[in-house]
Amino acid sequence: MNCPSCHQEMSQEKLDAKYGKSFELDICHFCSAFWFDDLEDLALTPDGVLHLFVVINDNRPSQRSPLATAMACPRCRQRLVLMHDMQRTTRFTYWGCPGEHGHFITFFEFLREKNFIRPLSAPEIATLKQNVRTVTCSSCGAPVNVETDAVCAYCRAPLSMLDAKQVETVVADLKREASKRETVDPALPLRLLEDRAAVERSFRSNEHGPFGFELTDSSGLVEAGLAAVVALIKGR
Ligand SMILES: [Zn+2]
Ligand SMILES: [Zn+2]
Ligand SMILES: [Zn+2]
Repeated sequence: MNCPSCHQEMSQEKLDAKYGKSFELDICHFCSAFWFDDLEDLALTPDGVLHLFVVINDNRPSQRSPLATAMACPRCRQRLVLMHDMQRTTRFTYWGCPGEHGHFITFFEFLREKNFIRPLSAPEIATLKQNVRTVTCSSCGAPVNVETDAVCAYCRAPLSMLDAKQVETVVADLKREASKRETVDPALPLRLLEDRAAVERSFRSNEHGPFGFELTDSSGLVEAGLAAVVALIKGR
C-alpha cells in the first residue's frame, strides 16, 4: 500500500490486538504517519502502543516533508477529509475516508489522541530558554525560536513534550494484562514491568538535563522524550 501523502510504499508492522488477535498496521516513515483501517486503532493493546514507540523512534526520518494538501483513500481513492476530534480535553486531527475505510494520522496527532502529549508549563519554557535557542516543532518539523515563541509560528502547535505520567499509565495497564496471561510474551518490555516508576524518575532526574533527556539546539522535545522512553524499554 502506498502512503496517501508522499505515495511511497508504506511498511507493515504486525501488532498484537485485543482478544488474542493481531493486525498489520501501515506506517509511512517518511511522513511519520499511520494508516489505520477502520476500527484497527480500537484494537491496539498497551504493548502495541509501546511497540509503536520503538518502531517510530528507530525509523525517524532525518527530514520530514509536509503532508500533501489533497490525499486519497488507499482503499477506494475517495478524497480524505480533514477531521477535528477531541479526546478528553485534547484536540487532535486526522484525515478520514468518507467511505469509512479508515484514517491517516501523523504520529504526533496519534500521541495527542492517546493523551501522551502535554504543553510545557511556564517554568518549563523558562528552563528551556536557558538551555537552547531553537527546538524543532514536533508537530510539523519547523524550527521554533524559543526565545520569542511558545507556539510554532508555522502550525501553531504549542511547545509540547511527552507526558511521563501517561506513559506510566500505559505501562501499568501492560503489567495488569501481563499478570492475567499464563505465559509472559518475551517481547514485553520487562524492565518497565519490573520498575514502572522508571519513566517518571528518568524524566525528573537531572542526570540527563532538566527534562530528563539530552537537549541540544533544534531537538524535537517529543522525539527526545520518546527516545528516552525507548532506551528504558530496551533496558539501556
Ligand atoms: Zn508518506
Ligand atoms: Zn475509502
Ligand atoms: Zn509546527
